[in-house]
Amino acid sequence: VEIFIGWIVFSILVGVFANSRGRSGFGYFILSLVLSPLIMFIVVAILGDMKTQAAQAIAVAEAPAADTHVRCPECRELVRKDARKCKHCSTVLVPQQ
Ligand SMILES: [Zn+2]
Repeated sequence: VEIFIGWIVFSILVGVFANSRGRSGFGYFILSLVLSPLIMFIVVAILGDMKTQAAQAIAVAEAPAADTHVRCPECRELVRKDARKCKHCSTVLVPQQ
């Protein structure tokens, strides 16, 4: 009985751990119950932080690059090519495609 309770408690912990990493806490809790909390704990640990991965993907997509950004002629900050207005100094720009 104690092993069974420990199994459930550890499954809940795996669910909380998965949830804190931007994953389905309930889903991982169920998987832990069915499979093994230890296995699912390792899976969550290996898969890494989904929030961090998503944030990195967005950061890469938003990062100013030569093919998506130009320098504002007024303030020399990088602004999007298709922008009509500089986000830094509000200068009216000519959108480029
Ligand atoms: Zn500007």
